[in-house]
Amino acid sequence: MTQFAFFNGAIVPIAEAHVSVMTHALNYGTGCFGGLRGYWNTGQQQLYVFRILDHYRRFLHSAKLLMMDLGYSAEELAEITVDLLSREAWTEDCYIRPLAYKATEGIGVKLHGLADGLTIFSVPMGNYLPIEHGIHLGTSSWRRVDDTAIPARGKISGSYANSALIKSEAQLNGYDDALVLNQDGHVSEASAANFMMVRNGKLITTSISDNVLEGITRSTVLQLAQERLGLSIEERPIDRSEVYAADEVLLCGTGVQISPVTAVDHRAIGNGKVGPIVTELQQIFFRVVRGEDEAYRGWLTPIMERVTG
Ligand code: PMP
Repeated sequence: MTQFAFFNGAIVPIAEAHVSVMTHALNYGTGCFGGLRGYWNTGQQQLYVFRILDHYRRFLHSAKLLMMDLGYSAEELAEITVDLLSREAWTEDCYIRPLAYKATEGIGVKLHGLADGLTIFSVPMGNYLPIEHGIHLGTSSWRRVDDTAIPARGKISGSYANSALIKSEAQLNGYDDALVLNQDGHVSEASAANFMMVRNGKLITTSISDNVLEGITRSTVLQLAQERLGLSIEERPIDRSEVYAADEVLLCGTGVQISPVTAVDHRAIGNGKVGPIVTELQQIFFRVVRGEDEAYRGWLTPIMERVTG
């Protein structure tokens, strides 16, 4: 159970971290957030936060989109998070949620001239989607929000109504998640994860101007695929029909981690089993995030202190 949150400039008991029903962000979706994972290494009795500064840099870019000035640098937000997690003292995998929001209480849609609020809390979290056996995606009847409407590049609270429409439609139709097309009909991503496929030995993903979130896991997987597997990478538009021709497909994101996809729109991907490249990428990834690969220790922030009492 979560005990603490960073709220109004201090770490407080979670029960004290409340906002009014009149809060601007609650009414209009004028917030933005981040999502980080802490990985517990049982052997080392150590929690590691993955790519904390990269997450907070992206968080600050989202805040800038919404004309927010949080008054903290990425380094300062990382410090606060380390403090918060050392107080929580999780001994299992967890998820960390920083949330910046238009805190002014009142009616009136705009971004400027409003107060900005900031909170950070964490919850225990295991796997969000199955990662051992593959999942089945269905192409969504919804399209991804466009950069000309709500920029997908930012993790903006309001645009997650788009993700929620997509996710519920997929699940209620019997799929695990969705393949989401952008306004010009190319693949963007899943409901809350980036999309990649393997075709003829190359790792192919959508380019960052195809209305996708610039995923931290996406950049991690691309780097590991090149450095560890020597794969060549293509970042380019992907047609829906090209996905059916892929040898392997994966979704990646902080929540989903690396989830193999074995069917799309009732068509098996490859032979319908989790493929060898996705399996290898998963193994490499989990060693890295749990602190078992020295070469990538720089991506990890250990939470040292255990404050008790
Ligand atoms: N796309 C969307 C829409 C997401 O919500 C997420 C999860 N943050 C991702 C992609 C994956 O991004 P990351 O790897 O940074 O978690």
